[in-house]
Amino acid sequence: MTLYVHKYGGTSVGNVERIRHVADNVIKARRRDESVVVVVSAMSGETNRLVALAKEAQPTPDPREMDVLLSTGEQVTIALLSMVLQERGCPACSYTGGQVSIVTDAAHTKARILDIDTQRIRADLEAGKVVVVAGFQGISEAGDITTLGRGGSDTTAVALAAALKADECLIYTDVDGVYTTDPRVEPKARRLDRITFEEMLEMSSLGSKVLQIRAVEFAGKYNVPLRVLSSFQEGAGTLISYEDENMEKPLISGIAFNRDEAKLTVLGVPDLPGVASRILGPVAEANVEVDMIVQNVAEDGTTNFTFTVNRGEYQKSLSILRSTCAALGAREVLGDDAIVKVSIVGVGMRSHAGIAAKMFETLAREGINILMISTSEIKISVVLKEKYLELAVRSLHEAFHLDRPNVSN
Ligand code: ADP
Ligand code: ASP
Ligand code: MG
Repeated sequence: MTLYVHKYGGTSVGNVERIRHVADNVIKARRRDESVVVVVSAMSGETNRLVALAKEAQPTPDPREMDVLLSTGEQVTIALLSMVLQERGCPACSYTGGQVSIVTDAAHTKARILDIDTQRIRADLEAGKVVVVAGFQGISEAGDITTLGRGGSDTTAVALAAALKADECLIYTDVDGVYTTDPRVEPKARRLDRITFEEMLEMSSLGSKVLQIRAVEFAGKYNVPLRVLSSFQEGAGTLISYEDENMEKPLISGIAFNRDEAKLTVLGVPDLPGVASRILGPVAEANVEVDMIVQNVAEDGTTNFTFTVNRGEYQKSLSILRSTCAALGAREVLGDDAIVKVSIVGVGMRSHAGIAAKMFETLAREGINILMISTSEIKISVVLKEKYLELAVRSLHEAFHLDRPNVSN
């Protein structure tokens, strides 16, 4: 018998009517003789509501208590889905992360899965039940509730699929697959039939929230066939898999962007060994993740040093940097939290020169100033003023002919 893990996101379980629709989908799969484990998210908006409540109670919420709170969202939907399935005559049983031993490390609000004990799930499947598991949550070795970071239900689903050696992991969501870019920003975005793990990993890490990055990492590592598809309409969706001979090989597969960016600059830094580490050391100690880093060529014995951080950590980084600046004898600290990062991604880029030039030309033609650039083997990222996001995405989409299939850009 084939085994599938289905994951339904917040919009797909946004009310009981939609949960009934999910139940129908699961029942259809069972009629095809498929065993099903279902992972669900909290109802749409619920996790945001809980985060806001927590901040009302405690400005910087205690991470352990935050996880106790956030995990309740998914506990509601697993119970409702099981009830609806039972009501339809389909045997079903719900479990929290802890109940099926999704063991994680103790990094509250961004925990990583270490191990899953599948015994209980297998026993239920053998007894002919649909197993419904809460996404986004686990339990630490000390027995505390943990959560896996925003979008973490994707990772629960993939980790379960890997542990159960499922035939495929199906991520049902509110779009019918992975697109060349977010269809909310570029209506001409095109659904991709397939994308490689490598490209999807870049897209996710550069801001495409359609799949949590850890879910893609996990699927790549354990070779779990992963598919993104719509919970509202029929269709094959997008398969995420390893590169193979028959795949269409465009230079650019997609455009990702991230609005959660902020930029900090230290001006007039003495050009001496050890300066970069003296600037970034205190930032790292405060657990702030630094993304792009640029150090300018020195002039008059001083240099300028710029880096980007997550926008939520902008104020914290700014105050750390102001004290470092004084200690270093640097001239001034500047900051900008109205910036975005736009990236083009494609494995085809590896063997082609000229892609960066085309990207920069396209932006220049639209009068968009590039603030920072970074490249790697299969992506080019630029930092821009926030107001240019839509224009940049749409003009790049057009310049690389992403709206047309089978065009090698
Ligand atoms: P869910 O609640 O089902 O997990 P998410 O909101 O996390 O859904 O992810 C789906 C959303 O991801 C889509 O509605 C879409 O706006 C956004 N998205 C961003 N980039 C892409 C992309 N390249 N392809 C498809 N969707 C994308
Ligand atoms: N409910 C969590 C969130 O909103 C996890 C998820 O939906 O994947 O981030
Ligand atoms: Mg999601």
